[in-house]
Amino acid sequence: MNIHRRHVAHTGIVLFVLAGNMLGQQANLGYDDTPMQPNGRWHIHDGKRPQPPLVRPAPMKVSPVPAPADATQLLGDRDDLSAWQMMDGSPATWVMKNGTLETGKGVIRTRAELADFQLHVEFATPSEIKGDGQGRGNSGVFLLGKFEIQVLDSHQNPTYPDGQAAAMYGQYPPLVNASRPPGEWQTYDIVFTAPRFTPAGALDKPAIVTVLHNGVVVHNATPFWGPTAHRKIEPYTRETARGPIALQDHGNPVRYRNLWVRAVKEYDKP
Ligand code: MG
Repeated sequence: MNIHRRHVAHTGIVLFVLAGNMLGQQANLGYDDTPMQPNGRWHIHDGKRPQPPLVRPAPMKVSPVPAPADATQLLGDRDDLSAWQMMDGSPATWVMKNGTLETGKGVIRTRAELADFQLHVEFATPSEIKGDGQGRGNSGVFLLGKFEIQVLDSHQNPTYPDGQAAAMYGQYPPLVNASRPPGEWQTYDIVFTAPRFTPAGALDKPAIVTVLHNGVVVHNATPFWGPTAHRKIEPYTRETARGPIALQDHGNPVRYRNLWVRAVKEYDKP
C-alpha cells in the first residue's frame, strides 16, 4: 500500500528507475542462462523464482534432540569421529570439540553406506555474519553422497530460492523459510528413500525426500530429478542407489552436532 502511494507521488522517471532496480536486484540473485528445470517453469537457480514465505519456528524445547534407542549416533557428545572419513578413505580431518564438529577442508562422509533412512541433523551457521548469498554459512547434507539438502544462513540473506537453506539444491526451494538467526542451533529431520533401478540399470523410481526444518515441513515426499549439480541437471546412474551421508566443505565455517540415523524398513519386515 505504501509503495503504491509512493509510486503515484513520484514522476515517471523515478518509477522507471525504481522498477529497473527491483528487476536488477531480482536477476542478481541467481541465473537466467542455465537450462530449464524438467518441469519447464524455472531456470536452474532462477533468481526470479518466488522467495519461500517466512515461518518463525517454535523455540527448541529440548536441545540437542535425543536419539531414539535404535538410532546410530553419527555425531554424539563424545568427540568421536570414528563413523566418518574423508572421501578418499583417509581419516576425517575436521575438528570436533565438546560435541561440536566444525567444517574443515574437504568433504567428509560416513563410513557406512545407506539406502532408506531417517536422519536427524543439528547445525549452526556463524553468529558473526560474513559474506552474503551462497557465501554465508554454506555447507550441505549430501544424502547418499549425491543429493544435497542445502545448509546456508538464510536469515535475511536472499539468494536464488533453489539454493537457500533446506533447498533440494538446484531443484526445489523449501516450501517455507523456517530458518533461525545465525549462531542458533537448527534441525533438519530428513526421511529419504533411495532411488530404485531395474536389473538393466534404468531408473525405476527416483529418490524421494521429506524434510522438516526446525520442525516445519519444507519438502513433502518430493522426488529428486537426479543427483545434485550446480547450473545443470545430472542424470541418475545406478551408483546413486546406495551411499554415505556426506557433509559439504564450501569454505564457510559451519558447526554440526548430534547427527543420528535410523534405517527405514519395509512394512512387515522387522
Ligand atoms: Mg551447499
